[in-house]
Amino acid sequence: MPAQATAQAQAAPSVPPGWEAVIGLEIHVELATESKIYCGCSTRFGAPPNTQVCPVCLGLPGSLPVLNEKAVEYAVRAGLALHCRIAPYAKFDRKNYFYPDLPKAYQISQYDLPLCRDGYLEVEVGGRTRRVGIIRVHLEEETGKLVHSTATIAGSRYSLVDYNRSGVPLIEIVTQPDLRTPEEARLFLEELRSVMQYLGVSDVKMEEGSLRCDANISLRRPGETRLGTKTEVKNINSLRAVERALRYEAYRQAAVLEDGGRIVQETRGWDEASGTTIPMRSKETVQDYRYFPEPDIPPLALDEAYVERVRQSLPELPAARRRRLMEQWQLPAYDAWVICQHPALAGFFEQAASRWKDGKTVSNWVMGEVLRILGASGEEPGVLAGRPEWVEHLVEVLRLVSAGRISANVGKEVLEESFKSGRAPEEIVRARGLEQVGDEAQLLAWVRQAIEANPDAVASYRAGKAQAAGFLVGQVMKLSKGKANPKTVGELMRRELGEPGTSSS
Ligand SMILES: [Zn+2]
Repeated sequence: MPAQATAQAQAAPSVPPGWEAVIGLEIHVELATESKIYCGCSTRFGAPPNTQVCPVCLGLPGSLPVLNEKAVEYAVRAGLALHCRIAPYAKFDRKNYFYPDLPKAYQISQYDLPLCRDGYLEVEVGGRTRRVGIIRVHLEEETGKLVHSTATIAGSRYSLVDYNRSGVPLIEIVTQPDLRTPEEARLFLEELRSVMQYLGVSDVKMEEGSLRCDANISLRRPGETRLGTKTEVKNINSLRAVERALRYEAYRQAAVLEDGGRIVQETRGWDEASGTTIPMRSKETVQDYRYFPEPDIPPLALDEAYVERVRQSLPELPAARRRRLMEQWQLPAYDAWVICQHPALAGFFEQAASRWKDGKTVSNWVMGEVLRILGASGEEPGVLAGRPEWVEHLVEVLRLVSAGRISANVGKEVLEESFKSGRAPEEIVRARGLEQVGDEAQLLAWVRQAIEANPDAVASYRAGKAQAAGFLVGQVMKLSKGKANPKTVGELMRRELGEPGTSSS
């Protein structure tokens, strides 16, 4: 998956030459609790509008919020995984603003005493480990969702509000401005997403809004320590968009500065369609939130024993798992990185590797075929956790291929079919007659047929183009519908054609 983005990033430097970018991220993660943060309403995604609401999350007068214990635990889990200090005493505040996505006209958030602070997350960038500081992680509530009658608010005759999402628990994670390139920002977000997945605190689906990212970016000359004027980019809704939006903004700012202009501190929105950032209404840039302490929720006083219990329950996190898999199965760093991105994928790999004993072969199949099959059927790697039989299918395909009973290409096809139908690979191979043909008489007949049908290839082979033999072998594979043993075909082909001639030209 990252190969394409990486190739693209290499096409031109992601920060204009002669400049250094200073980037900080603000990330919102929806917590995967069953009920909302201050009431008992369901948080299920995709229900009909306004069917999961009550007086509390609608902000009706007289209703009282009650803090969801699970949301607190998830936030503490996230904070601990990000190496934060967990506050022994935290409180909630009302962040006041007037907008219809928020019926109370304030959001219950945390201001001066957040639940977690002063942490970090390490991310691998080009083989080096970069430590990115985490300023704070705090709990707050999600807002409702506005649905405009047309694509833009300006052109709409009316707007509707869906409050199902209102009150879903969120954590906001704020980083230090420690990131230096758009690529680093994307890698950081990928790592953070993996960590949240490992912790099981969120499904972190950017397309469903359960992971969102705003980014601050400014430029300065390398070696300078003072910060330049920053802009904030909002509405970044995919991992790819993080890199694209920041790259666009870096080049835009450089052009302004190199023209002798000044950067205006403002909020800009990322527009996916045009691939540009555009200024948002200035109203959003000069907000005064007027925070007040929330009187209806008692302050949180977490004792050390509680925090310690949560710490003990943390799973092995992606960075540690990568190191372990590299050690245990001699995986290259890239393989470990791909496989450990999702805990279910890593679990699948580990089960198959411990059955097959050859980690690199299993990793090739997992990175290539398993991810391809999931992608083609639109499934998330998480589905692997509920499919222990797929481990068996993969191991059986590896056995059939290594015994020479089927070719690797047929193996890929068989694997896909066994995932889909649930039938064992062995059974599919027998039912569809996919066993490799090793019978020399049959192979020789195909070889001669290929030679006869392709005189041009034969001529260029004899003229010295040895690679023409590969083309002829390919023709035999076609004739055999992929079932010929390619190694034997290659030998027979060379025997029939003789040594390639040497070109005199
Ligand atoms: Zn409710």
